[in-house]
Amino acid sequence: MEQVKIDGLAAGAQKICITGHIRPDGDCTGSCLGLRRYLLDGDVSRQVDVFLQPAPTVFSFLDGFDQIREYDGGRYDLCFVLDVSDPERIGENAACLKQADRVICIDHHVTNAGLIPETYVKPNAAATCELLFDLMDEEKISKKTAECLYLGLVHDTGIFRHSNATRHTMEAAGILMEKGIAHAKIISDTFLTKTYLQNQLLGRALVESILFCEGRCIVSMISGRTMEFYKAKHEDLEGIVDQLRVTKGVDCAIFMTEMEFRVYKVSLRSNEKVDVSRVAAYFGGGGHVRAAGCTLSGTFYDVVNNLSEQIAAQLDG
Ligand code: AMP
Ligand code: MN
Ligand code: MN
Repeated sequence: MEQVKIDGLAAGAQKICITGHIRPDGDCTGSCLGLRRYLLDGDVSRQVDVFLQPAPTVFSFLDGFDQIREYDGGRYDLCFVLDVSDPERIGENAACLKQADRVICIDHHVTNAGLIPETYVKPNAAATCELLFDLMDEEKISKKTAECLYLGLVHDTGIFRHSNATRHTMEAAGILMEKGIAHAKIISDTFLTKTYLQNQLLGRALVESILFCEGRCIVSMISGRTMEFYKAKHEDLEGIVDQLRVTKGVDCAIFMTEMEFRVYKVSLRSNEKVDVSRVAAYFGGGGHVRAAGCTLSGTFYDVVNNLSEQIAAQLDG
């Protein structure tokens, strides 16, 4: 693994595409755009296309953001799949994998089962952006690439607060800062600033939250009707589960979004005890030990009951 470098992996490839998971977050968007910029800096004659679902507009300052599109055909010498534990999480853009001579997955999810044969997975990396940083030549990282990678580090570590942030994460962040990026502005504009709508949804989710398992778990939900009422997008719910998680006494936080009638996107977080990647994987999802997700169907109470059974088994075990 240590010998592998992006430059070696991409050597000779002229047409390259990059994709990531559905509903791209900061790490997914940052890693795709950061790798794009790095590859183009290395060889301007290359074609590098990024196929993702629309990414949050707060990331629009990143180089290449306006070039992001959905896959609509074409062959590639090489396809990079980033921040994806399971090809099913790519969505419709996964069609580009079949049209590439070589597919390489770079990821940091503990639940990555290596379904893509050439997979580089490092579960103790805080972010895919950290892993990419390791695979890039430090001196070839431009300011534009650094902005992308820094964004991924900031978002997957919750501004270096989560337990996944290591000495190495901080050192990588420090080197990226020295590329001259507006690091404080990136944190403020993309992570801390909330729109009025986002704050209203956060407020609702907090008011309507329910404690269970003697206060060791908390759950809240935003229904499809509420989403429609506020004309909210999925990205407007970013951060709600993290606010639930910091409730005193809570180990495990669940935040559910109703995507379709009685179909919930479930976000799970834990502080110390519950391995939420196991809970999510049990229900067909995945993620990390302290942050994971899955999709579940049924009434709100059915879904909470099913989840709480798995969570309680770990809390009591
Ligand atoms: P989220 O709660 O959406 O922020 O996701 C937390 C972590 O779990 C991220 O690393 C996601 O990539 C992962 N994750 C979320 N939903 C799923 C899913 N349905 N299948 C696999 N991994 C997921
Ligand atoms: Mn991600
Ligand atoms: Mn990630």
